[in-house]
Amino acid sequence: MKRMKNDRLESQIAQVAEVAGYLWQRGWAERNGGNISVNVTDLLTESEKALPAISESYALPKTMKWLKGNCFLVTGTNRRMRYVASQPMENMAIIRIDNAGDTYEIIADNPVRPTSELPSHLSMHDYLKGQGIDNKVVLHTHPTDLVAMTHYRPFLQPDVLGKLLWSMIPETRVIVPKGLGIVPYELPGSMALADATIQLLDRYDVVMWEKHGALAVGSDVIECFDMIDTLSKSAQIYLQARAMGFEPEGMTEAQSEELRKAFHLC
Ligand SMILES: [Zn+2]
Repeated sequence: MKRMKNDRLESQIAQVAEVAGYLWQRGWAERNGGNISVNVTDLLTESEKALPAISESYALPKTMKWLKGNCFLVTGTNRRMRYVASQPMENMAIIRIDNAGDTYEIIADNPVRPTSELPSHLSMHDYLKGQGIDNKVVLHTHPTDLVAMTHYRPFLQPDVLGKLLWSMIPETRVIVPKGLGIVPYELPGSMALADATIQLLDRYDVVMWEKHGALAVGSDVIECFDMIDTLSKSAQIYLQARAMGFEPEGMTEAQSEELRKAFHLC
């Protein structure tokens, strides 16, 4: 059975394709680098949620207690962001978690296997939903400047890099008010990486995986991209200053605090 046209879902697919294009243009998505998942359950009609599976049923490594029956739009394993941008539904799929939260199957449009990061994405969605947070999106990408900064040990101490980036240009604190979490290096795709990330999601909307990439969560895929893009802007200012041969002064603590109060930030 072919999926019927659904304007709200088409609009969400178009947004993910738009962001996939930005990731590629930014140079953050070499080959198949990065992945995106979006909880689309609320965008689907009852008949879409009940579409027959077009794949076998795949086991999840743990029960996703809060995601029973939920549906996700997910980028495909080994698929390139530049092609997600140009041919979104040839490179993404919609999957449905079963009613026990233990398995998933693909329901539309094509049998594109989800990213190998699916278990970690779903664990994050599961955790945030369990906390009562209206989270829809998990976005992971490889911003060159920010990843480079995680190769410097002093930046890996809690809030050091986040505060430095806040101090480069006022908007960064406004757009990323919770700052930047740092997850120590773990094997890509591992549950250890997912678990370490989850521990920081109460405090941060964006985390850096040491020597690997950025991960943002939120209710809107464009907003998730914008947070990472803004942090990258700050990183660029820092790197340009260093390239000109000086350590940038940065905004003072007092200026940052004034900004926090003026914009009613957390
Ligand atoms: Zn990655």
